Amino acid sequence: MDADVIVIGAGVAGLRCARVLEDAGMDVLTVDAGQTVGGRIRSSRIDGFTCDWGLMTLNPQMPAVHRWVDLDLLDMRYPQAALLVRRTDGPQLLGDPRRAPRLLPSMVRSRMISATDLTALARWSASGLVGGRVLDSDDDTTLEASLDEYRVRGALREELLLPVLYALLADSSGTTSAAYAKWVLHSILAGTPGLPANGMQALPELLAAQLRRPVRLEVHASAVLETGPGVEVRTWSDTLRARKAVVAVSPEAVNQLLPVRRPRMQGVATWWFRAPEAPFALPVFALDGRGPIGPVWTAVEVTSFAPTYAPPGTHLVAAKTLLDRFDGRADARVVRRHLAAIYGVPTDDWEVVAHFELPNALPTHRPPLSDRQQVRIWDDVYVAGDHRKTGSIHGAMVSGQRAAEAVLADLGVPRSQPRHRRAVPSRHDR
Ligand SMILES: Cc1cc2nc3c(=O)[nH]c(=O)nc-3n(C[C@H](O)[C@H](O)[C@H](O)COP(=O)(O)OP(=O)(O)OC[C@H]3O[C@@H](n4cnc5c(N)ncnc54)[C@H](O)[C@@H]3O)c2cc1C
Repeated sequence: MDADVIVIGAGVAGLRCARVLEDAGMDVLTVDAGQTVGGRIRSSRIDGFTCDWGLMTLNPQMPAVHRWVDLDLLDMRYPQAALLVRRTDGPQLLGDPRRAPRLLPSMVRSRMISATDLTALARWSASGLVGGRVLDSDDDTTLEASLDEYRVRGALREELLLPVLYALLADSSGTTSAAYAKWVLHSILAGTPGLPANGMQALPELLAAQLRRPVRLEVHASAVLETGPGVEVRTWSDTLRARKAVVAVSPEAVNQLLPVRRPRMQGVATWWFRAPEAPFALPVFALDGRGPIGPVWTAVEVTSFAPTYAPPGTHLVAAKTLLDRFDGRADARVVRRHLAAIYGVPTDDWEVVAHFELPNALPTHRPPLSDRQQVRIWDDVYVAGDHRKTGSIHGAMVSGQRAAEAVLADLGVPRSQPRHRRAVPSRHDR
C-alpha cells in the first residue's frame, strides 16, 4: 500500500480533504498532474508583478475560509467596501450603507437607488435564505425570473446588481440559480473580500505546506479502479494502491476517472495592465453600469490596496471579461478603450503585463440548486471539488471536507478536532 487514502487533485478541495484525513491519523498521499498546487488558483510572477490567473478574491467571511484558513499567515490586503460605477452621467461611488454611511448622501442624490427598489431587493435577497445559508428548495428559479417575481427593478437592478452578479458568476445569461446568486450576494455583503499579499496562489500553497506528507506533483491519474478491498490509481508512470481514493480533479477532468456527468463550465479572461498613474483615487473595484457596452465586467487597480503585487511606485490594474459574451475574447486595444470609459482616464499607454483565458473557470449553477451531491461513487472511491457544491473556494473546501468525513465514517475512524479555528474578525480587522 502506498497510503491509507490517495487524494487525486491538489486544488483547495483536495488539499482540505487531505488535511481532514491527516488530522484523523490517516496516511494520505496527495497527487496532482500540475507543476504546482492550487489548480485554478494560480499566480504568475512577471517582471516583478504578481498576476493571478483569474481576477479572484478571498472572502474571509465565507464559512470554510473563516474556519479553516489561517488568514494571518496570508498577510491579507483589503480594498474599500465600495464600488465605482460608471453611469451615463458620470462616475458614482456606491457602498453598503451599513459599512460606508458617508456614501449615503451621494447615493441618494444619484437617484440610482430608490426606497421602493431597495425594499424589493431586501425582500428578494432574504427569500429562501436562513442566516445567509441557502435552503434546498424545489422552488428555485432563474436569477432573472426571481428578480421579476420580487419586482427588483430600475437602476439598482440593471446598473448595479446584475453587473456585479454576472461578473462574480462569470455567467451573463441571467439563468443562474437564483438561490445561488443570493448566496453569492450575501457572501460579498458579509465580508470584504481581499487578496493575500503574495498573490492568490499563497492560499493553496499554505494549505499544502500544512500537510504532513508533501503533495506529489506531475502525477497524472489516468484511471481509478476498485480492487475490493482497496483501490488502484493508475498514473502515466505508475500504479498506486490504497484503501480509499478521493477524486478531487478539475471539473472538466472528472468524467475521465469516474462515471459522473461532466459539469458545464463558465469561462473568463483576465487582463493585467501596468498603468503609469493610478486610474482612481480610492482602492475600489469598478464596473460599467451602462450595460454591456464593452467587454470589461469588473476592474480594479490591485496595487491601490495590495502594493505588494508590483514593484514599488508602479500601478497594476486587472480587468475581467466573460467568455459567454460575444466580446469576451476582445483584444487589448478594445479592453483598454473600455477601461478608459470606465475610469474616465486615458489608457493608451497601459502596457499588457499578462493575459489569461480560462474557458473552464467556474461550474454553471442552473436551478434548482443542488449543492449536496453524492460524495461516494463506489465503495472505496469518493469525489470532491467545487462542482459538487458551489463554484467558490468555500464550495471546494466544503466538498473536500465532506469527502474526507465520508471516508472516515466508512473506515470507522473518528474525526479529530480542527487544528485551526479563528475568532470572528471584527470590521476593523479588514
Ligand atoms: C477566474 C476565476 C475566478 C474565481 N473567483 C473566485 C472568487 O473570487 N472567490 C471564490 O471563492 N472562488 C473563485 N473562483 C473559484 C475557485 O477558484 C474554485 O472554485 C476552486 O479553486 C476550485 O477548487 P477545486 O479544488 O475544486 O478544483 P481545481 O482548482 O480545479 O483543482 C483540481 C486539481 O486537479 C488536478 N488534476 C486534474 N486532473 C488530474 C488528473 N488526471 N490527475 C491528477 N490531478 C489532476 C488539477 O491539476 C488541479 O490542480 C474563481 C475561479 C476562477 C477560475
